[in-house]
Amino acid sequence: MNVLRPNIAAMDGYVPGFQPDDIASWIKLNTNENPYPPSPKVVEAILAELGHDGASLRAYPSASCQKLREVAGKLYGFDPSWIIMANGSDEVINNLIRACAGQGQEVGYVHPSYSYYATLAEIQGATVCTYGLTDDFRIEAFPEYYNGKVFFLTTPNSPLGFAFPLHYIDELARNCGGILVIDEAYADFADGNALELVKKYENVVVTRTLSKSYALAGMRLGLAIARPEIIAALDKIRDHYNLDRLAQAACGAALQDQAYFRESCRKIIETRDWFSKELTVIGYKVIPSQGNFVFASPPDKNGKRVYDGLFAQKILVRLLSDPLLAHGLRISIGTREEMETTLEALKKIG
Ligand code: PMP
Repeated sequence: MNVLRPNIAAMDGYVPGFQPDDIASWIKLNTNENPYPPSPKVVEAILAELGHDGASLRAYPSASCQKLREVAGKLYGFDPSWIIMANGSDEVINNLIRACAGQGQEVGYVHPSYSYYATLAEIQGATVCTYGLTDDFRIEAFPEYYNGKVFFLTTPNSPLGFAFPLHYIDELARNCGGILVIDEAYADFADGNALELVKKYENVVVTRTLSKSYALAGMRLGLAIARPEIIAALDKIRDHYNLDRLAQAACGAALQDQAYFRESCRKIIETRDWFSKELTVIGYKVIPSQGNFVFASPPDKNGKRVYDGLFAQKILVRLLSDPLLAHGLRISIGTREEMETTLEALKKIG
């Protein structure tokens, strides 16, 4: 197939977490999904949009998602011109790379974090540079002045769960020549966020997703917050109808039901903190988490052994292929009942 661009021929595709077909028979704790359903208002809004015969689907959806930009702008304290809606935050992450990094230009990110940044940069023909972490969760050898085109900072970090302190991110933004994308996929489960840095620095973009905290991974909804100049560039390159009608209806309803959202996050955070404590009681090492998951290592540091033991009991967690992370597992936070079952299973596995 010599028609392929060499970088496409050479690259490996991204492998998402396993989605079993018989999903109901598993305790599924491998892709950081929300164990609770989305707000009932989301279902109502989707049904209302669909109507009795689905006639609304004949017409294209809003191309700009202006109403959603207004809802999100109000929620986060920004003018709508600072917001773009996306078909999952993956879409806007991809478009940030497409907008900023050409062939051979640098896209950087912290390793370990979300390796999909590398896949997207490779598609673009950009050069990927990774920066490791020190023992106290700071970026190792981050240059005094970063000259790459885009740098992705995942905070809270996945898979490890810690969050970078705001003053540290502020310092990175100041020393970053390109765009600093703060991927806040998990920020709704954290004690803080970096939204104020979007106002403070021209080169800061924050991305959010509705996949985790709003329980809408199946709808594919995300957004980015940035200066209007950056938003305008992203608007040029996205699919013009990037959010379908049902997704737009779901998104508006979800963002507007903040009471439901807060309660769902509260339950997950409470279960996360309980589960983390219980894991340490049985001898696991747990990184204090600000996300809806924990990274935990068994006393023998054999992640694969525990993964297999849980798999045999139809509990699915994430074993990362990276040898750096072979000593542990990333375990998403399910319902309290699911986590009690998981804890009992871990005790039996030993
Ligand atoms: N960023 C991070 C750190 C993630 O873990 C994920 C989900 N795997 C995403 C972005 C993408 O989320 P989505 O496309 O579902 O919004």
